[in-house]
Amino acid sequence: LLVGVLKEVDPREKRVAATPASVERLLKLGLEVAVESGAGAGAGFEDAAYAEAGARVLPSAEAVWQEADLVIKVRPPMEHPTTGRHEAELARKKQRLISFLWPAQNKALVEQLAAHEMTALAMDAVPRITRAQKLDALSAMSNISGYRAVVEAAFGYGRSLGGQVTAAGRVKPAQVFVIGAGVAGLAAIGAARSLGAQVKAFDTRPVVREQVESMGAQFVPFEFSGETGEGKGGYAKEVSEAYLDAEQQLIGDHCRTSDIVITTALIPGKKAPELITSGAVVGMRRGSVIVDLAAEQGGNCALTERDKTVEHYGVIINGHTDLLSRMALQASELYANTIVNLIEEILGKERVWRLNLEDEIQRGMVVLHEGKLLWPPPSPTIR
Ligand code: NAD
Repeated sequence: LLVGVLKEVDPREKRVAATPASVERLLKLGLEVAVESGAGAGAGFEDAAYAEAGARVLPSAEAVWQEADLVIKVRPPMEHPTTGRHEAELARKKQRLISFLWPAQNKALVEQLAAHEMTALAMDAVPRITRAQKLDALSAMSNISGYRAVVEAAFGYGRSLGGQVTAAGRVKPAQVFVIGAGVAGLAAIGAARSLGAQVKAFDTRPVVREQVESMGAQFVPFEFSGETGEGKGGYAKEVSEAYLDAEQQLIGDHCRTSDIVITTALIPGKKAPELITSGAVVGMRRGSVIVDLAAEQGGNCALTERDKTVEHYGVIINGHTDLLSRMALQASELYANTIVNLIEEILGKERVWRLNLEDEIQRGMVVLHEGKLLWPPPSPTIR
């Protein structure tokens, strides 16, 4: 089985789906690997390093699609921004694909892949169960985004995050407020705490309180007629309008006393909830910073502009969606590991590509099986 590694066509995407180290692991599984020339350049991996690891380096995406039995990449196949040609047009009949796919948002793409009778597995559809953790690309990426959000915030803030008493004067620790304490939020808490900030956090799922506190942050309590944002299988669900109004008030109050706000609140498959209103931004101190990790899903702050840093009422609002590409090396290493772990799981002990649709993990991730749509999967634990 020949695994083909593509260079991402989105010009802002610097990650790659295989690294020289992951190529070595693929070869040990008895597979062959072909890498498009320049595929790893954005993440710092040169063609020569892939060749040294045992991959063949091919000159073009066409050559990779032509030869590979299984194509691996980061972003869902998309139209090439300069040539206008859709990546999926290059696919061969019955080819296999592993990448992020977001099938709910990419119905036309799924149809296009189905027309080629492809088998496609979505890295964004790993069931969130303990056994699947080593394949959990979303958690691996969220963890990096949360860390990077703090780095971005610290850069914009222009002061140190930790408090200090020096001969030249006293510096107060920064007050950091994290909204949404999922994987990214918890990573942001950890990074901000390690830089010495005082951190508080809020989430509509009260169960995260313990995790927030174990990271050394204070959990902001909120009681609204018994309603919570905890949905099926522990995932967040949309809250009522009345809850959201009250939550915006609460968040506005906490933004006023914060120097840095990192907001990560998402509901699977939905537009991000608007939690920081323009009024809340008006109330913030000049020079404070908001990093909106929900910018790709519409943003948690009313004034966020996707892929821009803007300033309103003296508050810097960062809505960049390429934070993972700003840490492309580490993000690629971890993403590539989750891909190899998945391939290893599929190959099994016999080392033969045979999907096991009885297995909750594989069934959850298979969007297309030889052109047949298998998504969404039946289990409630799977998004
Ligand atoms: P996410 O990125 O979808 O959402 C981020 C956070 O936003 C969630 O914690 C959510 O509760 C919160 N949120 C949603 N609406 C909100 C609102 N109105 N106000 C404030 N916060 C709001 O979530 P995620 O980080 O991908 O994962 C969420 C949880 O899933 C994790 O905390 C964890 O408990 C669980 N999980 C389990 C596994 C596993 O068992 N293998 C793996 C990953 C995650």
